[in-house]
Amino acid sequence: MASGCQHNKGDRKQFLKSQVLPDRCRHFINGKYLDSCNGEAFKKTLPAYNESWFDVALGGTAEIDLAVQAAEKAASGPWSRTTPGDRAKMLHRIGDLIEANVETLALAESVDTGKPYSETRNGDIPRSAQNFHFFADLAAHQNFETWIGDDGSQHTTIREPLGVTGLITPWNLPLYLATWKLAPALAQGNTIILKPAELTPLSATLLCELLNEAGIPEGVVNVVHGFGANSAGEALVRHPGVKAISFTGETSTGSAIMRDGADTLKKLSFELGGKGASVIFEDADLDLAIPTACRAAFRNQGQICLAGSRLIVHEKIAQTVVDGILNHIKKIKIGDPLDDATTMGALIANDHRDKVAGFVDHARSGRLGEILCGGKIPDALPTALASGAFYEPTVIAGVAQNSRLIQDEIFGPVLTVQTFKTIDEAIALTSGVLYGLSCSVYTRDGALAQQFARSVRMGMVWINCWFIRDLHTAFGGMKRSGIGREGGRYSLDFFSEHKTITTALVAKL
Ligand code: NDP
Repeated sequence: MASGCQHNKGDRKQFLKSQVLPDRCRHFINGKYLDSCNGEAFKKTLPAYNESWFDVALGGTAEIDLAVQAAEKAASGPWSRTTPGDRAKMLHRIGDLIEANVETLALAESVDTGKPYSETRNGDIPRSAQNFHFFADLAAHQNFETWIGDDGSQHTTIREPLGVTGLITPWNLPLYLATWKLAPALAQGNTIILKPAELTPLSATLLCELLNEAGIPEGVVNVVHGFGANSAGEALVRHPGVKAISFTGETSTGSAIMRDGADTLKKLSFELGGKGASVIFEDADLDLAIPTACRAAFRNQGQICLAGSRLIVHEKIAQTVVDGILNHIKKIKIGDPLDDATTMGALIANDHRDKVAGFVDHARSGRLGEILCGGKIPDALPTALASGAFYEPTVIAGVAQNSRLIQDEIFGPVLTVQTFKTIDEAIALTSGVLYGLSCSVYTRDGALAQQFARSVRMGMVWINCWFIRDLHTAFGGMKRSGIGREGGRYSLDFFSEHKTITTALVAKL
């Protein structure tokens, strides 16, 4: 991969076009880049510029078959004889290579997704490297559990690889989420077929170069590009050779995967949609709560499953908090994702931007709330960005709990505002949606924070913060936000078969 040190701000696009981007994102099967069997490909559009700089090979059943054959062969080859320590060294090498290429990967991820380079450079890509380093160490030190029975017998539960595992990932945090699954799956000795979102194929393709450089045996990791239903995604889920699917994406896609995986009894892990909230009590430190709630709503253009897309605020401080949020929004700089000054880039695609705008138009035409700011495509975009997928950060107050704006995942830069009087009301509003992934609560009262955190139906609750993660802990949601948990030992458990071996050490009297 071309070193990121060779570019500067002015020629980032040139650098990407001439030295980084492939003419086509090809599948990576058995250690080699391949076109589709029938040569089919589709155009990838860069969301900020509404331009296509490269094509993507369009995979389906034939390419998934090839990838499964390669992964099955690799599962019984040298990879199957590696120890946790061997694999930890390999994972650290991959993590080091991501770090060495951080700028190039960050630029590629930024143009592919439309998100600001500052976020991919300082957030997504370093975290992708960290995923490998973290799971390398964890898996090397947590590979069995032993119990001694009352009769002296010794019971040991070991983790064995599942075999061929399928990873299906979304477009909002492409390399970050692919590596979140790849690292523990590899650490546990599995072989892998990754199907990235069709909208963001680039970083997974570039990662494969680094996997080869790290010396990973051929067939251990395979990447097949394509669409979901009736395409590569569905073929992967239906394939009898694939033992498990770890999926992150929309709730409705999770249902389809569950149906398609039923015949072959796939082991499944689902990280699905969310409808998070920032809940601010009267005694909160507003210097902390306002900027954090603003970041929770608008980071990554609001396209984060953990986004705090609902502001639920005590009625006595509602005006102060809303004024503070509106002031913070004025500081958001919408622009070219490759520009260092940009803090809000493009949404993933014009189609998606139109879907987000549709929610706001629905609120406007139905008089469902008061649009306090935004609610439109920015007026003064430079010519190069004029047809990009941009949308202004939007705040809508006074929306009823049963409205689509509160109940559905908008997945864009739209923040709704609701008020409450009592903790019971705050809990009811927060939990009163079909999703149950995450929320934040802001208060100086520790007991109140605990009471709130333990009462809401959410998989993750942040107290006086947002998006702080320790990779050891369980990640996932309740209700329609997911099935199962990943993170730390939960990921190791998902990507393993457990086997218990018992030895009768003391003869029975
Ligand atoms: P989608 O569900 O549309 O797609 C996710 C992946 O699934 C893509 O690779 C997609 O392929 C593939 N896919 C789609 N249909 C099928 C199918 N029938 N069989 C197999 N694979 C299929 O999600 P998005 O990409 O739109 O991502 C946004 C969603 O992800 C949001 O709902 C967000 O909340 C959720 N998400 C959840 C997280 C969590 O941890 N809970 C974290 C991050 C995001 P293709 O792209 O070609 O359609």
